[in-house]
Amino acid sequence: MNTHSFQANQILGDPSLKIRRDGIITIENGYIVEILENVQLNQNIKNFIICPCLIDAHTHLFLSGTTDMSFRKCQQELTKSEIQKQIKTHIQAAMSYGVLSVRDMGDINNSLAEVSCPESFRLLNTGPGYCLEDQYGQLIAIPLAHMEDLPFAISKNTFSSRWIKIVQSGINSLTDFETPCAYQFSESILTDAVKIAHQRGLRVATHANGEKAVAISIKSNCDSIEHGYKMGRENLKRMAEGQILWIPTIVAMKNLVQFWPGTLQERDNAKRYVDDQMEQIFWAREYGVPILAGSDAGSFAVNHGKGLWEEIQIFVETGMSFEEAISCASSKSALLLGGWEEFGLLTPGKQANFVILESSVEDFPKKQIQPKEVWINGKQFNPLSN
Ligand SMILES: [Zn+2]
Repeated sequence: MNTHSFQANQILGDPSLKIRRDGIITIENGYIVEILENVQLNQNIKNFIICPCLIDAHTHLFLSGTTDMSFRKCQQELTKSEIQKQIKTHIQAAMSYGVLSVRDMGDINNSLAEVSCPESFRLLNTGPGYCLEDQYGQLIAIPLAHMEDLPFAISKNTFSSRWIKIVQSGINSLTDFETPCAYQFSESILTDAVKIAHQRGLRVATHANGEKAVAISIKSNCDSIEHGYKMGRENLKRMAEGQILWIPTIVAMKNLVQFWPGTLQERDNAKRYVDDQMEQIFWAREYGVPILAGSDAGSFAVNHGKGLWEEIQIFVETGMSFEEAISCASSKSALLLGGWEEFGLLTPGKQANFVILESSVEDFPKKQIQPKEVWINGKQFNPLSN
């Protein structure tokens, strides 16, 4: 029998989001068998949190988050085996931050399908998304010559059995903050496409920024809005009514403010998008929109694993409690993305998948994000031996 005990000042992962203080988790043969709280801890346990392993609701595992512009360009021309090697490196990076599951949102060559993931790593993979031929999205989506081709393409989709991705708008312009992102697919086309997807048991994630693109996505009955910058409060209210998931991917914009090599005006505009998105997150919580944490890792300056913790930090800065922010990247994601019910909760009977942080819930946002230890199925994760 293989038994271990872990002490921590604060333990998250309770179904009610309650923080258990001064606790001991005992694991046996890879499973949690007991959690005690309000016990006398060893003197050297002064600043430790144990929280569940995380789910990143929006990644691009085939892309690196590097800020090296020449590499960013050339990674689009890597060979299949080079991309697969890169994907494996990114999965290891994610796991070393305790990110044990991702929903991957657009992989133009469907390279992920041919990568053998570690057994404990869970993947929801859309494969390539769909966009229009002359518009944004070619890096992650199959370009369609006419918008009328979308419903047929979805009726024939064999890349995914769970989620598909539709690119419904462009990306936010760093040179022009005011002009809204144009939409790609009309309401009637998108509605037909979503209907076909639902008939096939697929859920639809739409990449949408700007009021109109998001409004069309909501009316078409899509299941999640990815990004949703400058969508406006009316759209947020509609999303709350329909319980449509929102993945704000705010770290991707925030890191542009800090690292983008363009002009000062571009970085200033990035800051305006960040401020606007933070306010939208505040209102989304007021209205009751289900928000999930997705990093958009693989974007400029967003690294796999680390990026999700940065997203959690920003959620906390918008006014969420740390435990609520963690739930957006664990138990809530597990429940709402589907298929990961065993994730996100630390209770007896669950697999011993957790992260130990040297921090406290109260001062987390100011601290370093690299977890002290990551435990997967009752074994300490070591990237070198994996
Ligand atoms: Zn993305």
